[in-house]
Amino acid sequence: MSDEDPPTADPGPLLRGAAERAQRYLAGLGERRVTPEAAALEQLARLDEPLPEAGHEAGETLALLDEVGSPATVASAGGRYFGFVIGGSLPVALAANWLATAWDQNAALPVMSPVSARLHEVVTRWLTDLLGLPPGSAAVFVTGTAMANATALAAARDQQLSRAGWDAPQRGLFGAPELTVVIGENAHSTLVRALGLIGLGRERVVRVPSDDQGRMRADRLPSGIAAPAVICAQAGEVNTGAFDPFPEVVAWARKIGAWVHVDGAFGLWALADPGRAHLTAGLTDADSWAVDAHKWLNVPYDSGICLVKRPEDLRRSLAVSAGYLPPDVGFEAMHHTPQASQRARQVDVWAVLRTLGRRGVRELVQRSCSRAREMGERLSGDGLEVVNDVVLNQVLVRAASDQLTLAMAERVQQDGTCWCGTTIWKGRPAMRISVSGWATSERDIESSARAISAAAREALREAAASAAGPSPA
Ligand SMILES: *Cc1c(COP(=O)(O)O)cnc(C)c1O
Repeated sequence: MSDEDPPTADPGPLLRGAAERAQRYLAGLGERRVTPEAAALEQLARLDEPLPEAGHEAGETLALLDEVGSPATVASAGGRYFGFVIGGSLPVALAANWLATAWDQNAALPVMSPVSARLHEVVTRWLTDLLGLPPGSAAVFVTGTAMANATALAAARDQQLSRAGWDAPQRGLFGAPELTVVIGENAHSTLVRALGLIGLGRERVVRVPSDDQGRMRADRLPSGIAAPAVICAQAGEVNTGAFDPFPEVVAWARKIGAWVHVDGAFGLWALADPGRAHLTAGLTDADSWAVDAHKWLNVPYDSGICLVKRPEDLRRSLAVSAGYLPPDVGFEAMHHTPQASQRARQVDVWAVLRTLGRRGVRELVQRSCSRAREMGERLSGDGLEVVNDVVLNQVLVRAASDQLTLAMAERVQQDGTCWCGTTIWKGRPAMRISVSGWATSERDIESSARAISAAAREALREAAASAAGPSPA
C-alpha cells in the first residue's frame, strides 16, 4: 500500500458537495438562533474519535463536518451577531477565497506566485488611494490587526533606534538607547501585548489619559519627551468607536521626530467615507497603520493589513537572507512581514474592492453606521441608556443598574435572536453592540432591538420579584 501512487479520484463531487453544504448553511442563517442549540453542542462529542487507523472516505468526513460542525457554529456570518467586532464574509470574498485556496499559492515571493504578487501591487495601490494614505506606502498582509500592530511597531522601534545610531535588528535591545513608547489609556489589549512581544514592555509606557469617549486627551500629551519615541494612537476605540485627536498627536510627534502608529482595526475604513472626515482628520499623516480586512471589509479570516509609509522601514526589520532565496524581483512579502510562507490574503481583499468599488466600500461603512445609530435610537426609546456618542458602528448600552445590565446581557445571549457581549466601560459593566457585517438589515436591527428591550424588561421584572421575596405558597 505504502509505495503506490496516491488515488487520482476526480475531486469534483467532493468540492461540489462542499459548495452545496456551504450554500445550505448560509441560506439557513436568517432563520436559526445565533448561538447553537444545546443539543448541537452535545453532538460535538461525535468528533471525539480515536485517530483512525485506515482513514475514512473523504465525502464521509465532509458529511460529518457539516452534520456535526455546522449546527455547533455561532452564526456570526449572519445579520444578527453584534459581539466583539466581527463581520461576516461578503459572498464574493468567500468565492474568491475558495478559488485562491484551490490555487494553493504561497504568496511569500513573486517567483512562487506571479498572480499573488501582481494582486499585491494592485491592492496596495487601491488601498492607498481609497484610504488617502501617502502614495508609495507599503501594504502587507498578516493574520489580523494584532499581528499588524506588532509588525508596524517592530519597524517603528528599529527606525527610531537606527536614527539614534543603533542597529536593533542585528544587536537587539541590550545596551540600546532608551526608547519611549506613548499610548492612550484605552489602547487595545493586543497593541499592549505587541509592545511586550517586541521587547518594549507592556508596562514601560507613558499612558495618556482619555476622555469620556475613550479618546486620548490632547491636552495631556506628555511633555519633556525626546526621540527615540513611538506614539500609538487609535482609530476606532473598541467599545465606543471613538477616534483619537490625530492632528494634535501628529504635531506632538513631528516636533520631536517620533514615529506615529495608528491601530485602526475597524476604524481605518472610516477613511473611505468622506462624511466622517471630522473623525479622521490628521489620520493619514501617521507613519504606519494597522487595519483588519476580516472585520469591516467582510472577508474571511484571517486577514489583517499593516500599512507603512516608507517600505524600507519594513525591510530594515524584516528582510531575511538565505542561500536558496532568489535575487530581489518585485515586492517580496516575506521580506516585509514576520512571515515566510503565507496564503494570498490579497485575493479576498482584491475581490471585495473590485466588486464594491470606492462607492461600495463607502456604503458598506455608512450602512453599518446607520444600523448602529438605529439600534441606539430604538434602545434609548425603550428606556435603556446609550452610553457613547454613536459616531461609528459601536453602541454601548446600560440598564438602570450594573446588575440589571448584566442580567439583560445574559438574557439576550440565552434568547438567541441576536448576540451581544459585555464590557467594562469606565469601571462599570455595559453591553456592547458592534454592527460590522454587510448582512445586517433594518429588519435585523428591529427584531434584535425588540429582543434586547424584552430582555431588559424581564431582567427588571425578575429583580423586582426577588426583591419582593418569595411569593406566599
Ligand atoms: C480587533 C482589534 C484588534 C485585534 O485585531 P485582530 O484582528 O483580532 O488581530 C486590535 N485593535 C483593535 C482596536 C481591534 O478592534
